[in-house]
Amino acid sequence: MTVTATPLAGAQGAHAPDLGTGVQIQSLSKTFRLGSSSVTALQDTDLHTDRGSFLSLLGPSGCGKSTILRILAGLETPTTGSVRVDGRTPADLRRTHELGIAFQDSALLPWRSVASNVRLPYEVAGMPVDDAYVREMIELVGLEGFEKAKPAQLSGGMRQRVSIARSLILRPSVLLLDEPFGALDDMTRQRLNLELLRIWTERPATTLMVTHGITEAIFLSDQVAVMSARPGRVKKVMEIDLPRPRTPEMQRTPEFHAYVDEASELLFGDGDGTGVEA
Ligand code: ADP
Ligand code: MG
Repeated sequence: MTVTATPLAGAQGAHAPDLGTGVQIQSLSKTFRLGSSSVTALQDTDLHTDRGSFLSLLGPSGCGKSTILRILAGLETPTTGSVRVDGRTPADLRRTHELGIAFQDSALLPWRSVASNVRLPYEVAGMPVDDAYVREMIELVGLEGFEKAKPAQLSGGMRQRVSIARSLILRPSVLLLDEPFGALDDMTRQRLNLELLRIWTERPATTLMVTHGITEAIFLSDQVAVMSARPGRVKKVMEIDLPRPRTPEMQRTPEFHAYVDEASELLFGDGDGTGVEA
């Protein structure tokens, strides 16, 4: 993990701004106004990772994890503070189609086939469709033979694979995943986590994943950022020093259990008064 001392916003003068690499979140706050009341989802959140690394965000429900991802995706604007990924603003990343996004609620278009859903980002971006690459991505996520199937004909796990393929189709350098396997049963989730690891190894991207799963966060990530209850702040960034390639057997090692204990303590420990939402 690197900590950038140079302010990213408003860097002026003789020095070139330090663009940083990886995910750079500086003093990020977000307050939603709802009529006369308001909700502060994030307050002074800082987070810094390296380019090409895999970071998971863990935290109680409602602590602003999705808000962070939505800000990075350019779907929300910060109230204060700034975010950069690989030195770029969200708007810039969107313009150059370098963001891959797979959110739990990123529904597939039900009337379109698998191939047609995977190809959609080309159409939205007004780019020529690379059919060979569409086939390659469908193969990468293990859906060869299902190109013509409609979403309703697929299992939940298969639909999430389509979402992942679609998020990768424009060769993004940044991947934002919001509980991509959250709605799936444990066994499917385990299998898809292994798939995700393989895919991430084959197509490296700076990745930020929101998850509820302590085990999967540790298993997949270089770093796990544990957040406090709302207003969300990063309590600690755990460096996960497990070797790669990761294998399922690693989940049974004392080192792995120590990471799980540490994350659980940070999330559920009651010694610091932050508490956890029900
Ligand atoms: P998480 O993903 O950690 O569960 P979210 O980022 O979705 O949390 O939400 C954080 C807080 O901000 C919640 O209290 C939520 O109700 C509120 N919030 C999120 N998006 C909006 C919005 N568009 N308008 C109003 N409140 C919102
Ligand atoms: Mg969320």
